[in-house]
Order: sequence, then C-alpha cells, then structure tokens
Amino acid sequence: MSLSERPPEHVIQEVLSRFPHERAELLPALDELNGQLGYLPREAIESTARHFRLPIWEVIGPATFYSMWNVGARPVEAVQLCDDGPCHAAGAADVRRALEKAGITVQRTSCIGQCGCGPVIVSDSQLYRRVNPANVGAILAGEKPQPLPLAAEIIGIAVDDPAHALLRNVGKIDPASLDQAVAAGAYEALRKALTMTPEQVTNEIVTAGAQGRGGAGFPIGLKMRFTAGGKSADGVAYVVCNADESEPGTFKDRILIEGDPHHLLEGIAIAAYGIGAHEAYIYIRGEYTGPAARLEQSIRQAEAASYLGHNILGSGFDLHIHVHRGAGAYICGEETALIESIEGKRGEPRLRPPYPTTFGVFGKATLVNNVESLYNLPGILAHGAAWYRQMGTEKAPGTKLYPVSGHVKRPGCLEAPLGKFTLRQVIEGPAGGMRNGASFKACHLGGAAGAMVGPQFLDVSLDFGSCMAAGAMLGAGDIVVLDANTCIVDYLRATAAFFRAESCGKCTPCRVGTERQIQILNDLIAGRGTLAQLDELMYWGEHMVDSSFCGLGQTASTAVMSGLKLFRAEFEAHVQGKCPAGVCRF
Ligand code: SF4
Repeated sequence: MSLSERPPEHVIQEVLSRFPHERAELLPALDELNGQLGYLPREAIESTARHFRLPIWEVIGPATFYSMWNVGARPVEAVQLCDDGPCHAAGAADVRRALEKAGITVQRTSCIGQCGCGPVIVSDSQLYRRVNPANVGAILAGEKPQPLPLAAEIIGIAVDDPAHALLRNVGKIDPASLDQAVAAGAYEALRKALTMTPEQVTNEIVTAGAQGRGGAGFPIGLKMRFTAGGKSADGVAYVVCNADESEPGTFKDRILIEGDPHHLLEGIAIAAYGIGAHEAYIYIRGEYTGPAARLEQSIRQAEAASYLGHNILGSGFDLHIHVHRGAGAYICGEETALIESIEGKRGEPRLRPPYPTTFGVFGKATLVNNVESLYNLPGILAHGAAWYRQMGTEKAPGTKLYPVSGHVKRPGCLEAPLGKFTLRQVIEGPAGGMRNGASFKACHLGGAAGAMVGPQFLDVSLDFGSCMAAGAMLGAGDIVVLDANTCIVDYLRATAAFFRAESCGKCTPCRVGTERQIQILNDLIAGRGTLAQLDELMYWGEHMVDSSFCGLGQTASTAVMSGLKLFRAEFEAHVQGKCPAGVCRF
C-alpha cells in the first residue's frame, strides 16, 4: 500500500515524526504532507501546529500562502497550463481552447521556467513542452513527453575561449557523475581558494568586478565583504543561493543546475569560505523538482569525496549545504521574502535596512546571490581577476546568460560577454531570425518586471549600462521577442495576470494596483475599455512605482506603462472595439 493510500491520520503522524520540532522545518513538513495527501486537510494543519508547538495561525499563514499547496480540500483534477508572457506569445491561449474543447479542466500556473519551449502544460505530474492544439489529443491519450536534451536549449556560446564559458559543461558531461565533473575541472578553484586566506579570496572577487546577475547588478565581492564584516559576535554567517528563478522569460539557472550542478556547489563553497560561513542554503523553486533532486544527489557525492562537509580537502574548513524547496511564490525571489521562507514563514518581504548582510537568515549576516552569480566565482578563482576582466565591458566584466524566447526561430539560452551583442544581433544571429518571416514589433526585456522596447532599441548594446541609458533594464537578461502579429494589449494582459497572481498582498498599492491593472486590460481586450481607463492604467502604474513596499510592486507596472507609451494607438484602437493584430475577439 502506498503511503498516500493509508488513512490520513497515519500519513500525518508518519510524516511529522521525521521532522525535528524546529520552525525552519515547518515548510518542508507542510510540503511533504501536501505531497503525500494531495492537500492539507484541517487535521494536518492542527497536527502540524502541535508538532511544531506553534499557534495554529502560524501554520495556516504559510499553508495558505504558497500556491503549490491546497488547504482544506483536495483539488479538482486539472491540467496546469502556463499562460505567462512567453508561453502566451507561443500560443498558450490556443492550447487552452483545445484542452477545454476536449472537456479538460485547465488551471493557470505561473511560469515554470521552460520559456524557450512553450507553451507548456503539466498533466499527470508530467511536463509537456512545445504543446500545440494538434498534439493535445495525443497527450490526453497518454503519450509520454518527448525528451529535450539540454544542449538543444543552448543557442550559442559566443565566448572567445568556450572552454571557460559558464555553459561549457552543459550537455557535455553527465550531470549525475562527480567523476566527469572533476575531470572537467570541478573543485580545482575551490582547492586553490582554500590555500588562500578568506580575505584574499574576497579581494580577488572584488578586483574582478563581478556583478550579481539577478538584475540589480550589485558587485558580488563587495557584498561578500559587507557580509563578512556584518557578522555578530558569535561569527555565524550564511550563504543563500537564490535558485528561485520564477520570472517569466527566465530559464537559465535551471539549465546551469541541470547540466553542471557541481559548478554551483563549488561557487557556493568559495563564497562561504570567503565570508567564513559554515552553512549554506540553496533556495530552489518548488516547481524545479528534478533540479532539486539533482542538487541533493550532487551534495551527497561532494560530501563523500570531501569537496563539501567536514574538513573540506583536509583544509579544516567545514561547509554544509542544504537544499530548501519553495512551494510556488515568485515573491520569494526577493531576498528578504526568501529569507522569511527559509525561516518557515509566509514569503513576505522585510523592511530594509537592516540588509541581509547584517540581519539575514535567523538574524545572522547572510550573503544572498543567485545561481548565475555564484557560477562566476570558480572561474575568477581559477584564472584570476585580470582574466575575468578581459571579458565584457570595463564596468560590466564577465559573460552573461541571455534566455531568449518568443517569436524567433531558435529560442534558447545564449552566453556572451556583456555588451558583445545588440538586441538585433541576438535575434538575427544565435536566435536564427524572426519566426515565419514576420517582422519585429517589440521585445519584453529583462523579465516580466522589465520594460517593453520597440524597434528603436534594436541597436542598443545588451549590457546593464547601455540598456539603462536607453530607458530599460537588462535585468536577468531575458529577451522575449514579439512579432508584428502580436496584440500588445493581449500580451500585456498575460503579464498583468502574472503580477496579480504573484503579489503577496502585504501592501495596498501593489495588491490593489495589480488587480486594477488586470481589470482594465480585461476590459480593453473585451472591447469595453475607455480612454479614461488608459489614464487610470498610468495612474495606478505610477502609484505602484512610488509607494509599493518591495521591488515586485514597484516593477509590476513597468511593462504595462512602457507598452502603453510605445503602442498608445493600439490601446486606443481597442477602445474603439478594434484589435489591429486581429487577436482579440470582441
Ligand atoms: Fe507584497 Fe507587492 Fe507589497 Fe511587495 S509590493 S510587499 S509583493 S504586496
């Protein structure tokens, strides 16, 4: 008898008995209970509260926050469909119609990190990519998903010496094999770092000028220095690897983890050594079950071979890395919300300051960097800061991963030195040109929180400074290309739906603004919008920028406002009941 077939009370007791009574274990326990039972019934909530010696509201709070859990009732059988920007651009609405025509209940899910292979659905716990109305029938009849090799998701490595690229091992080595990773050079940089002092390690990274790749571009080395200097008297510090990439348009961290997990563990170990941390967390989004399992396996391998754990490589340095799975909340990509989540709470952002560098996980100094950022560290330690600075620009050294999706012939992930390509060169080069011979209309740059840019942006260099000077943020490097057949209002409605679903609700401007944004866009695509509503979109957008509590709310209107400014005539046509692209059915 499988566990899920046993009486719920037995499952609950068995699951809880495996978790220590520590608050940080609350979310993993709820995740396990939801996985075993399919939902969180009242008795599971009550038993969990007793087990962790918490008032019941401290369990209900997180239990109702994360979208992958179902509180109170078993969910109806449904196929999950991603309808965020890139999947929407790839035809998710047509897939929805085909599924519904077949009598299937369709549930919207936020982005699941497969943007180059959209539209995607999850049916019977299986992920199907590149779904279209023609293959829906076969999927519903039980056809298994077609495997898609990781190498097929890479559209280019435009680095002078590809042997030093971040993607160099992806698709080339067996990610399950430590031996192959070591043969490809894994842990050599860590070995070298351990012969240096922590200050020397940090100084090398400062000198390299490596910037965080999560969007803000803050120098990694400086953040390490601040964290090392921000420790309290007990000297405890943590490294947190942010692997919660949940931004529609972003799928690069998944490729790195799936293809070369030891490279990430090595980067984390170098960062931990530099700041004197002996515990690290990888906070990985709940939807990435395969990559999370890959990391767990890799950690066990590395510990058995003395690359992690106690007395690493005989150096006397200890480091334990824990994988912490999220449960469906884009806001947990915000570093303080992520920290709250690790501590077993709702993923709501904290007021800053204090910053995580002095008051992070469990109130201790914490270095938070994302996957791609930490991937840069082994190369810097192995080859030196001067080598690293040869790539990219003076202000933005190193290479960058650019996930490309939308209406191009070859969507996928590109690695190139920052500033090597313009948007036009990416589209016409590695991405293979516009799909179906259509002309370029717009690009949604830098993720859902980024701006819409038009043809005038095609010759802007894709580095942080040049993009900002041209009025958009490069962010995590996401490029969603839209062709002339795209209805901008319809596309932005999908983006607005994402933000309404992902606003944590803590502050009013974001909670109400994201709702009003989607209501107005729904009115426009239904042909009942008004000119006054266009002004209202701008009003709410500016209000959210000015007064939202965290970056999510402050950027949730960026796409809509920039799209409205660029394509005002198209919005006004919708007010007149016309969709110039012929997409909206009034
Ligand atoms: Fe939550 Fe949005 Fe406010 Fe951020 S801005 S705290 S996501 S409601």
